[in-house]
Amino acid sequence: MFEALSSSLQKALSKLRSKGKLTEEDVALAMREVRLALLAADVNVKVIKQFVDRVRERAVGVDVQNSLTPGQQVVKIVYEELTELMGGEQAKIKMAAKPPTVIMLVGLQGAGKTTTIAKLALSFKQHEHRPLLIAADVYRPAAIQQLEVLGTQIDVPVFQLGQSQLPKEIVRQGLRAAQAQGADIVLVDTAGRLHIDEDLMKELEDIQSLAEPDEVLLVVDAMTGQDAVHVAETFHQRLSLTGVILTKLDGDARGGAALTIRSATGCPIKYVGLGEKIEPLQPFHPDRMASRILGMGDVLSLIERAEQTVDMEKAREMEQKMRNASFTLDDFREMFQQVRNLGPLDQIMKMIPGMNKMKGLENVDLGDKRFLRMDAIITSMTKEERANPDVMNASRRRRVAMGSGTTVREVNQVLNQFEQTRQMMKKFSGIGKKMGRRNALSALK
Ligand code: GDP
Repeated sequence: MFEALSSSLQKALSKLRSKGKLTEEDVALAMREVRLALLAADVNVKVIKQFVDRVRERAVGVDVQNSLTPGQQVVKIVYEELTELMGGEQAKIKMAAKPPTVIMLVGLQGAGKTTTIAKLALSFKQHEHRPLLIAADVYRPAAIQQLEVLGTQIDVPVFQLGQSQLPKEIVRQGLRAAQAQGADIVLVDTAGRLHIDEDLMKELEDIQSLAEPDEVLLVVDAMTGQDAVHVAETFHQRLSLTGVILTKLDGDARGGAALTIRSATGCPIKYVGLGEKIEPLQPFHPDRMASRILGMGDVLSLIERAEQTVDMEKAREMEQKMRNASFTLDDFREMFQQVRNLGPLDQIMKMIPGMNKMKGLENVDLGDKRFLRMDAIITSMTKEERANPDVMNASRRRRVAMGSGTTVREVNQVLNQFEQTRQMMKKFSGIGKKMGRRNALSALK
């Protein structure tokens, strides 16, 4: 996500970082590079001009402050302005005072609307809501079926009346069903088209006036760049959108849509889609995104993701074991599995401050292959060996290498890693207990 923009912006600013004093020329040069970086990222030209003007204005006047060098202050200004450009504060979903909250989702075909509805429903479900999906896309063959399949997958009910009824009628009856079933959030899937056309807009307006939704969210594909911005402008004029969901950000190296949509339309980005897999939708945090773009990491999102995916019960159990010094190789394998659940490691590394600058990280094999080999090595040990790896002498190591189809070197590596982890965890488990979550966070920054 945003790789190209991120590296060119960081390059533009790195020359300033180390300077003790900044001349107007230094700033002008950096701003020229920032401008080029944003142009290459396909950000709207008008937006770039406003952005660069604001940063320049603030940057020229900076003095030496107690803790930051002038160069660092410019980076801070760019960070603040990037955050502002993307909307400043996180824009949350407005819940109805009296349930159900009705959310209407609109968008062109292929933008990822159906996938996104399932992800959104899953997010609400995880927060103890009872969502209902209404299948009102009667034109695209199989749209209803696709929604039903996803609904079954995430265990969320789908209301549908087939393809022969009018969308407005489906929504009317769907809302009644929501009341009857006690659903507190209703997600309405509407028809998409390949291009914006009058019939589509008319139909969406009709549904909107009938359902009086609390939110009208447009789903757009980030990879289409400025086209996504035009689509957002057009939908917003007709439907007064309350927010945008930007999908396929995982494949978007440039970032033009994410950086332009808010200031071009006034509509906040509320969520982002980061993959094809149905998992909870990620809320959009402008400050965290700015931080990631500038290579400052995103520790908060990482912690949130860990809280969602890591089995807390098991984690506590493991912590206990470490404190009792009963951490075994089975636990080690389990721990690895939990980390893998967080997502692809190269993505995770980018959330850690400084890690994204480590060259060649993309080539590090931390994926399935490596895990499978480790798994084979641990499986080839006896129960006793796994519980007490200290007994692993040279002949046992040879036997395990043979049994797992690996080499003694790899067996040694796994055992060394295990030992290092055990040592490190011993140290950390004490600290973690003493510090609250907030303190632990500031220690990470
Ligand atoms: P719809 O026509 O708008 O309902 O789009 P679909 O939900 O059917 O999605 C179109 C394609 O985009 C499918 O292949 C999805 O798997 C894919 N897709 C949806 N969201 C994302 C995303 O956030 N990232 C990626 N990489 N693919 C996505």
